[in-house]
Amino acid sequence: MPRESKAAKIQRAAEIEQVMYQLYGEGACSLDYRDPFTLTCAVVLSAQCTDAAVNKVTPTLFDAYPTPQALAGAKLEDVEAVIRTLGFFRAKAKNLIALAQKLCLDFGGVVPQDVDALQTLPGVGRKTANCVMCEAFRDPQGIAVDTHVYRIAHRLKLAGPSADTPAKTEAALLAVYPRDQWLFINHQWVHFGREYCQARNPKCAECPVGQKGLCPSFSPA
Ligand code: SF4
Repeated sequence: MPRESKAAKIQRAAEIEQVMYQLYGEGACSLDYRDPFTLTCAVVLSAQCTDAAVNKVTPTLFDAYPTPQALAGAKLEDVEAVIRTLGFFRAKAKNLIALAQKLCLDFGGVVPQDVDALQTLPGVGRKTANCVMCEAFRDPQGIAVDTHVYRIAHRLKLAGPSADTPAKTEAALLAVYPRDQWLFINHQWVHFGREYCQARNPKCAECPVGQKGLCPSFSPA
C-alpha cells in the first residue's frame, strides 16, 4: 500500500465506520450485567474466556452477591464454586473479592466513573476500564482494545507495525476516530471480527469493508 497521509487515513477510517454502522448499528455488549458493578465483575471474568461462558455463571454470582458489600464479605471457596467452569477461576475469584473490598473501602461501594480510578481495582486493566466507561457510563475515555480490535486495527492498517501493544494500538485508533465514535468501536469490531475478520481465514471475499476497497489486507482467496 502506498504511504497514506493522515487525512486520507482519517477519511478511510470514517468510511470503515459507516460500514460498521450499516452492519451492526451501535453494537451491543454480549456480556449480561445489571449495573456498573456487575458489568465490572463480568468483564473481569471474561479474560481468556468466551462471553457465553461468563453469561452462564453470572446469574448465580449476581444473585448471591448483588452488591460490592455482599461480595466483599464472600468466602473465597464459595465464589470459586460459582465460577469454577471459567479459566483461571481461582485467580478471578480472588480478584473479584478484592475488587469488591476496594470498592467498599476506597470508593464508598460505588464503581468510580474514571478510567484511572477503575484501573486501581484488582483485576481491572485499561481494556476493562474502557469497557466499563463506555458500556456502564456512556462516557468513553478510550477504546477497549481486545484481541479482535487489535487484529482488525492492524489488518486495516489503522495501526502501524510499531503499534505493537494494545496501548499503542489504542493510541493509533484514538488519533483517527473522533471521541463520539469511541463508544461503539469495540462492540462493532468484536461482532465484525467474529463474522468476517476472524483470526484464521478471514472472509475477505464476503467482507463489506474489503469490497469497498477500504482494507489494505483484502485477500479474496
Ligand atoms: S477484507 Fe479481509 S482482512 Fe480486511 S477487514 Fe475484511 S475480512 Fe478483514
